[in-house]
Amino acid sequence: MSEPLTAWERCVEFHGHACPGLAIGVRACEAAKEKLGITFARDEEVVCIAENDACGVDAVQVLTGCSIGKGNLILRNTGKMAFTFFCRARNSGVRLVFKRPFAREGVDREAMQQLILSAQLAELFDCKEPVHAPPVRARLFASVVCEQCGESCAEHTARLQGGKKVCLDCFADYSRGW
Ligand SMILES: [Zn+2]
Ligand SMILES: [Zn+2]
Repeated sequence: MSEPLTAWERCVEFHGHACPGLAIGVRACEAAKEKLGITFARDEEVVCIAENDACGVDAVQVLTGCSIGKGNLILRNTGKMAFTFFCRARNSGVRLVFKRPFAREGVDREAMQQLILSAQLAELFDCKEPVHAPPVRARLFASVVCEQCGESCAEHTARLQGGKKVCLDCFADYSRGW
């Protein structure tokens, strides 16, 4: 029997390549597990707000079960290497901000990745209080039919344009013309 894949290997398989960014994501999940006691989320009991859409977000999806499809992974792209995790059952959360401890000249990507994977968590992340409250649970929205293209869209994405309910595509078309 072959050895089960490690967390790192599972993430590399999903992401498609090994890189320092993915390593940051893996260690952030490890820190979240340590701080909040979370395990893999089958539903929405764990929520992650990612402040970037870089490689590390893929590790979050594989290891914590926070995903776009379940609505418990929220991208709030400020371009910061930071991840906030919430555990609903314990009503607790932590914001992990990567400290870039190895951003030195002469450290190549491969070495950087190894350093990130082997460092103490405290060397890698500042643990802060979450800035935002955890989002409300994902809801099923009613849908409306766009009065311009006839396609249906979730009610909360619809816009009013000239008194008509329109989808974001039709709304964007309109604003692009000006
Ligand atoms: Zn990558
Ligand atoms: Zn439309």
